[in-house]
Amino acid sequence: MENCIFCKIVAGEIPSAKVYEDEEMVIFKDVAPKAKIHLLCVPKEHFATVMELTDERAALVGRMLQKIGRLRDMLGLADGFRLVVNQGENAGQTVHHLHIHILGGETLPWE
Ligand code: 5GP
Ligand code: ZN
Repeated sequence: MENCIFCKIVAGEIPSAKVYEDEEMVIFKDVAPKAKIHLLCVPKEHFATVMELTDERAALVGRMLQKIGRLRDMLGLADGFRLVVNQGENAGQTVHHLHIHILGGETLPWE
């Protein structure tokens, strides 16, 4: 997808601090962290929202969640973490390539 910043990160055209990569996903540090640990888990396939989840993509997102769980200790998240998926304007989604925010490393505020 042209002009998608996360497709460019996936392709290595824009540098990022990658902490995990396999054939279908990448996890890298958010450039503007909102917690002590702030990572983004991104599928290599471009699609924007959960409204576009085919059965295959739904299974992929399941594997992303599973991978985050399995990498918990390696990512420094043993004391707990929060997963966030912003969808659309009201949620403030700015990058229209589905991504799971991974927040942790400290006690997280919750209103
Ligand atoms: P959204 O607001 O769409 O849920 O989240 C997009 C996230 O991507 C933001 O937290 C923002 O800081 C992050 N981000 C935007 N551009 C870049 C970039 O070029 N590199 C990295 N590592 N993160 C980015
Ligand atoms: Zn993309």
